[in-house]
Amino acid sequence: MTRMLQWAAVLCIALGVASCGKQGVDAKRIEAAAAGDWLTHGRTYDEQRFSPLDQVNKDTVSRLGVAWWTEFDTDRGQEATPLIADGVLYTTTTWSKVFAFDAATGKALWSYDPEVPGEKGFDACCDVVNRGVALWKGRVYVGALDGRLIALDAKTGKVAWSVQTTDPKQPYTITGAPRAVKGKILIGNGGAEYPVRGYVSAYDAETGKLDWRFHMTPNPTGAPDGAASDKAMKDFAYATWHDGAWKEGGGGATPWDGITYDPKSDLIYIGTGNAGPWNGKIRTGGKGDNLFAASIVALRPDTGDYVWHYQTTPRDDWDFDAVQHLMVADLPIAGKTQRVVMQANKNGFYYVLDAATGKLVSADKFVPVDWAIEVDLKTGRPVEAPGARYEDGSVQTQTPGALGGHNWQPMAFSPKEGLVYIPAQTLYMSYTDPKEFSFIPGAWNLGMGRGADAPKVDKPTPMGELVAWDPVAKKARWKAAFAEPWRSGVLATAGGLVFHAAGHDFLAFDAATGKALWKYDVGAGAIAAASTYAIDGQQYVALMVGFGGAGGMGGEEPRRKGRLLVFKLDGKVTPKPFPEPVAQPPLDLAAATPSKGSVARGQALSAQFCGTCHNAGGYLPVLTRSPVILDPVGFKAIVLDGAKKPHGMAPFRRFFDEASAEDLRAYLLAEARKPAPPAKARMTHGT
Ligand code: CA
Repeated sequence: MTRMLQWAAVLCIALGVASCGKQGVDAKRIEAAAAGDWLTHGRTYDEQRFSPLDQVNKDTVSRLGVAWWTEFDTDRGQEATPLIADGVLYTTTTWSKVFAFDAATGKALWSYDPEVPGEKGFDACCDVVNRGVALWKGRVYVGALDGRLIALDAKTGKVAWSVQTTDPKQPYTITGAPRAVKGKILIGNGGAEYPVRGYVSAYDAETGKLDWRFHMTPNPTGAPDGAASDKAMKDFAYATWHDGAWKEGGGGATPWDGITYDPKSDLIYIGTGNAGPWNGKIRTGGKGDNLFAASIVALRPDTGDYVWHYQTTPRDDWDFDAVQHLMVADLPIAGKTQRVVMQANKNGFYYVLDAATGKLVSADKFVPVDWAIEVDLKTGRPVEAPGARYEDGSVQTQTPGALGGHNWQPMAFSPKEGLVYIPAQTLYMSYTDPKEFSFIPGAWNLGMGRGADAPKVDKPTPMGELVAWDPVAKKARWKAAFAEPWRSGVLATAGGLVFHAAGHDFLAFDAATGKALWKYDVGAGAIAAASTYAIDGQQYVALMVGFGGAGGMGGEEPRRKGRLLVFKLDGKVTPKPFPEPVAQPPLDLAAATPSKGSVARGQALSAQFCGTCHNAGGYLPVLTRSPVILDPVGFKAIVLDGAKKPHGMAPFRRFFDEASAEDLRAYLLAEARKPAPPAKARMTHGT
């Protein structure tokens, strides 16, 4: 500790000054980015997820082993990137819990549980996940699933302040990591499948006071909100919406993940979610571009003032959220160095935009893309494939579908190789217009027809690919193929390595060639991105393990407790094996109380309210194997009155009555009597 800091500490104790002890992480430290640190979600403000550490490299990676590990008290999807500052590792788990460890030894320092009500799980389209914290001046910031933004003391985990950033009566969620920029904490929200009206907020890091808010869709009444977005809405965004169901739901466009700050441009870039309901004919009469849904929006961090936007999918019809990882880089383009912001979008195009103006530099397919032929570089708009919009009642089967060619799993960039490593996937999905639609407040409102979920089975491309994309040459230099579409985020290092997890394997690839150099069986699926750091000259690699998220809800991985594994060279620790998963045994249907409910009505209810979470093969209980369907009284206690609220099962009395519950039970009993299907359906919904 320097003499000045020692004096500051003495003064703090003597005077009890509120701002003391907060030297911690600040803009200078994030921008200077010491090699051993990982101070913000993407390590540095540019979010390249590239570490200059090279102790673990092509020659030494074979010696990589576990230094320490821990198991958490929650299962399902673990999506957080661990941050490391001043020898402490901070991470989050499902249900927005925060944990601090001694980063070298793994000693638990403190933990914080925001006690999110279990029934809030119903409002989370795609698992009760959390992607991590922000650090700023002695505090740790987390967005809780129920819409709170919470500031914790970095040393103790004690709550400094907590604010509700959303209307708790609406199905908003927070799953993304906050970002700390210029003394403000930026936070978005999710919920575009219900939908809600998305926005990003900036809170004073010190006090928790709201500094500004920018809405991503207009107020359906056309009235101003008293928000930073008012001028853009009035000037041009409101005119891109027309009559339709968006007026009931708010239009979606929720910024639930990508938020990136560029100190050089002094802009923040925000990726916005799909337009809601998904079906543009229902949403807005099939008219207009629907700004700022499915867009990248650039704002001034001080005021929230609009600067530019680029809409990746005008009048989105396919759940093409544009929230994916936004990365800033200096690229050699047309003989000059150009500062750009880049995104591997759900819609299958890799976008390169000028960071200052938002002008499109390039947009190229990094996976097979059926919905559009190309992006017109003059207009910046996609040239849509004939029939891609299913508004005439046809069935559109295409890739990417709602899970995207690339989802939230962060990509990484190696400036040494000039390559971006994209965790890509190719998954077909079918879309149809329903014959009728009525908006149900608080429920999924996609506007999708039924009976169209028959994706193509002949796949010319592997379902999973790690694509090493050259953003200047606009093509892949190498690809690694995987059986699994839904895999982890990516980490790139100066050791010439790219870290990525697929199935149960944590892998290191040669960043230049894609050759697999190292593999470690973590015992479960990992979807988060690894981070790396150094303490006392020792490099560590940290990975959250736990399968889930949108892809996990329809996947085949059992529920297992989340884990954090930290690796170093010559690490010799062996984590204990996970317990063998226990399958739900078939029911004794002779013990069932017979039901006189309508199987047909029950099937419709199941599709609307149950199937997203309880699909066969997912990790939530298979209802046709659940003893609760044998007994009408116990069934109603859970389904209507919330007897299993703490487990995430919300009470559904707000949606239907006792007769409907019995219809649902009748359908589930009828399904339980059928022989088990031979193959598991895979992932037909997105985030
Ligand atoms: Ca979505």
